[in-house]
Amino acid sequence: MKVLVVNCGSSSLKYQLFDMKNEDVLAKGLVERIGLEGAQLVHQPGKEDKVKLPADISDHKVAIKMVIDTLVDNKIGVISSMEEIEAVGHRVVHGGEEFSESVLINDKVMDAISKCIDLAPLHNPPNIMGIEACSEVLPAVEQVAVFDTAFHQTMPEKSFIYGLPYEAYEEHAIRRYGFHGTSHKFVTQQAAELLGKEIKDLKLITCHLGNGASVAAIDGGKVMDTSMGLTPLEGLVMGTRCGDIDPAIVPFLMKKMGLDANDLNNYMNKKSGVMGISGVSSDFRDLEEASEKGNKRAALALDIFAHRVQKYIGSYAAVLNGVDAIIFTAGLGENSPETREQILNNFNYLGLKIDKDKNKVRGKATDFSAEGSKVKALVIPTNEELMIARDTKNLVK
Ligand code: AMP
Repeated sequence: MKVLVVNCGSSSLKYQLFDMKNEDVLAKGLVERIGLEGAQLVHQPGKEDKVKLPADISDHKVAIKMVIDTLVDNKIGVISSMEEIEAVGHRVVHGGEEFSESVLINDKVMDAISKCIDLAPLHNPPNIMGIEACSEVLPAVEQVAVFDTAFHQTMPEKSFIYGLPYEAYEEHAIRRYGFHGTSHKFVTQQAAELLGKEIKDLKLITCHLGNGASVAAIDGGKVMDTSMGLTPLEGLVMGTRCGDIDPAIVPFLMKKMGLDANDLNNYMNKKSGVMGISGVSSDFRDLEEASEKGNKRAALALDIFAHRVQKYIGSYAAVLNGVDAIIFTAGLGENSPETREQILNNFNYLGLKIDKDKNKVRGKATDFSAEGSKVKALVIPTNEELMIARDTKNLVK
């Protein structure tokens, strides 16, 4: 079975075509600047070189049509006709409380996804546009929605209700939802395989550390708590997001800086985090380099980042009443031995010891705990697209 995985942003569309027989990626690519000047499709067939195809791409429907035309192209295509695409899986950011699993898309599902726009005004509308575009271009093909929030729906009420009047939840759906669920679920499954154990027997703390970053506490495959909340702003200090702050800072800054709600949202989401602290970059490679050269604020940003991850790991070990493995994934988690070591230095009391040589790994599934360590430390590369393709295949079958 061949499955097309689609991830739509407001002006972009990422895709991967999988052959699910061996879970091979036949082709992948990105349409960028949709509806803008300078739009183009960057297509990569298999492991071959990328091909750039500039074009007038007015909307997501034109983008999807161009993707399909490229996939069946004589020269750079990888399939002979669009009938080979048997299903499409979409990343959908917010499923609210409606979806705790991936689902086959129908009119009812589309209504429910539309109802969640309020909760993810920047993300759900382009996700919906992508689904509608595929329905028009591939009308006979079944589509599946895979939600960033779904895996976290197992959280108990004591984890997801804020200390606000209960009416804020009842009347405005204000609660903690959590994000990166597809990634936390994928690495949970991979970790069980690597450890040779069943998911139901494992207490895991999964650290998705990329430009956006979140931690989850997972007991027997069920999320007990996670660091992101109503939006992906809560929790860790991230590339440009502030994470947890005293909420009283919001009205204080609005007054002091004369900002309105939108300005402040922008300030906390785009100008803060390690970027705002360091004044150098949101990219941890730049921060590591600047810190090595003696830049104090870059060093401080890295320290603050690691400290916040430690706080979450420590509190989640308490929530889970023990932990079998701590998992690192996403851009930074997979590729920065320095960050992993800095974070895990503080967990000797849990009986966790790392093997520094084994930790010198980038982007490869590895158990880097030392011989005799009571808690395993793992690097597991995430693959949200593959997780979406797997869910899609299972639902369409
Ligand atoms: P993601 O959002 O998962 O794509 O992760 C992106 C982030 O991963 C970037 O901001 C980088 O800071 C970080 N990253 C990627 N590769 C490395 C590396 N080799 N060393 C340190 N950080 C890295």
